[in-house]
Amino acid sequence: MDADVIVVGAGLAGLVAAHELTSRGRRVALVDQENAANLGGQAYWSFGGLFLVDSPEQRRLGIKDSFDLAWNDWRGSARFDRLEDEDSWAVRWARAYVEFAAGEKRSWLQSHGITLLPTIGWAERGDLRADGHGNSVPRFHIAWGTGTGVVEPFVRYAEQAARDGLLTFHHRHRVDELVIENGAARGVRGTLLAPDDAPRGVASNREETGTFELTAQAVVIATGGIGANQDTVRRHWPARLGTPPSTMVTGVPAYVDGRMLDISAKAGVRLVNRDRMWHYTEGVRNWNPVWPGHGIRILAGPSSVWLDALGRRLPDPCLPGYDTLSTLRYLRTTDDLVEHDHSWFILTRKIVEKEFALSGSEQNPDITAKDRRAVLRDRLLGKGAPGPVRDFLRHGADFVIADTLERLVEKMNGLTDRPLLDAAEVRRQIEARDLQLANPFSKDAQIQGIRNARRYLGDRLGRVAAPHRILDPEAGPLIGVKLHILTRKTLGGIQTDLDSRALGADGQVIDGLYAAGEAAGFGGGGVHGYNALEGTFLGGCLFSGRAAGRHAARQTA
Ligand SMILES: Cc1cc2nc3c(=O)[nH]c(=O)nc-3n(C[C@H](O)[C@H](O)[C@H](O)COP(=O)(O)OP(=O)(O)OC[C@H]3O[C@@H](n4cnc5c(N)ncnc54)[C@H](O)[C@@H]3O)c2cc1C
Repeated sequence: MDADVIVVGAGLAGLVAAHELTSRGRRVALVDQENAANLGGQAYWSFGGLFLVDSPEQRRLGIKDSFDLAWNDWRGSARFDRLEDEDSWAVRWARAYVEFAAGEKRSWLQSHGITLLPTIGWAERGDLRADGHGNSVPRFHIAWGTGTGVVEPFVRYAEQAARDGLLTFHHRHRVDELVIENGAARGVRGTLLAPDDAPRGVASNREETGTFELTAQAVVIATGGIGANQDTVRRHWPARLGTPPSTMVTGVPAYVDGRMLDISAKAGVRLVNRDRMWHYTEGVRNWNPVWPGHGIRILAGPSSVWLDALGRRLPDPCLPGYDTLSTLRYLRTTDDLVEHDHSWFILTRKIVEKEFALSGSEQNPDITAKDRRAVLRDRLLGKGAPGPVRDFLRHGADFVIADTLERLVEKMNGLTDRPLLDAAEVRRQIEARDLQLANPFSKDAQIQGIRNARRYLGDRLGRVAAPHRILDPEAGPLIGVKLHILTRKTLGGIQTDLDSRALGADGQVIDGLYAAGEAAGFGGGGVHGYNALEGTFLGGCLFSGRAAGRHAARQTA
């Protein structure tokens, strides 16, 4: 045997599983199609947002959270409706995960040296119903170091385990086949890819130089989702989300290719909920791309005016930062919108300065560098948009700026093949919106939402601009942003039990086979159900990778 356990995928889930194994003395072969520069996978690029419930950070900001509230939110978002079948393990994972987030998670993170910013974001504010989708309270805790800070301890453990002779890295090894003998996983076969010294995240060559086979007592599949493979995304695109866009931007590196999911299915592993996915509607083309089609997601505060491709304000709950999939569904199922792949934000300088954040470690250099002074200076006390946002305003192909609305709309029309926006109609809607600001109360749900957000200290200080008229010249200039659909997360995947043991097509555990992270739908084949509360993906990798590593260590003792 080449190792006690083979871990396929050196992203966060694979690294966590590997750590649980090597810290118990097991020998691990860590196999990945990419080079050593890519250790940590997507998590390295992530914003480092972590879903926690009733944390000291929340309490300090006056947020009253509880397991009951979070579990109510999770169920309202997930809407598990395949309980006898595809959701049978997912729902158990969901409950266990919310318990983890409300309990041990924070101290476990701390035990690995992962610490949190004192401010907390309010992601996915929801669909405006108490029993519907969304976070009732802010829960998006950001790790110091963003995603790099979450990944760092686990990379360090793997490197130490390699020095101790417990872990072998197999970079540029692409797995093409699972070896399952007599109902038990016994190894993997695959292709050796030519060396490639491409920097982290840059697509590498697929030149084949040979084959390999590795054997072990158990195999952990931690190979991520399908987000970089737009053909696969379209193949599994559900009818309820209408027609897939003909053009999208890509929110993940090219190695998130989804191949291993089909390979697993071919080997008799049970894949579930493949029609559930999590793509964003606020993607912009990266002016400085790392991977093919690289898009960046705007983490918008609640104030931008959101228009469809034909210039009509989106209906509730399609508001910035509220309900990702309702917005996606609306854009992809409304008859006269289906032929268009974009929508628009219109906002002011004041809004961009206070409310625009960009997802990704490289887009938040102050937090990524753990530079506490810079965070305080630029985000809480500072004037002006953060540097990376300014770069997009200057260089981004999807951004236009103008002093008057008419000139802005003219420039926005210049970004589409034919002019689709009517300046007078856009003006009428924005003037109506602006009239709602005369009182501290309003009939407009978005204005109500802005005022509600500012009652939360964290939003008032660092995230939500004081309510103002979009057409107030003092707040200008005006900014238009063309928004694309951005592929990101795969919510379904390999069905697993609570020990991350993979199930076969017959619903029975396959001996020695585990799945973790995005490949397992972040646990159970779809812990999120239909909708995510955000910050739940990294945590899902940690929790399911940990379960896989712990059980596999016991099994291979
Ligand atoms: C820009 C960005 C921002 C994000 N922000 C957040 C956030 O704030 N909060 C949050 O919770 N989540 C966030 N996410 C999501 C989160 O980072 C990912 O869901 C998570 O890191 C997935 O980890 P993983 O280990 O399951 O898979 P991956 O990181 O995708 O790793 C899989 C690894 O498997 C390898 N592999 C695949 N197939 C094979 C094969 N056949 N043979 C060998 N190797 C293979 C790949 O090369 C890769 O290294 C973000 C993601 C991105 C890209």
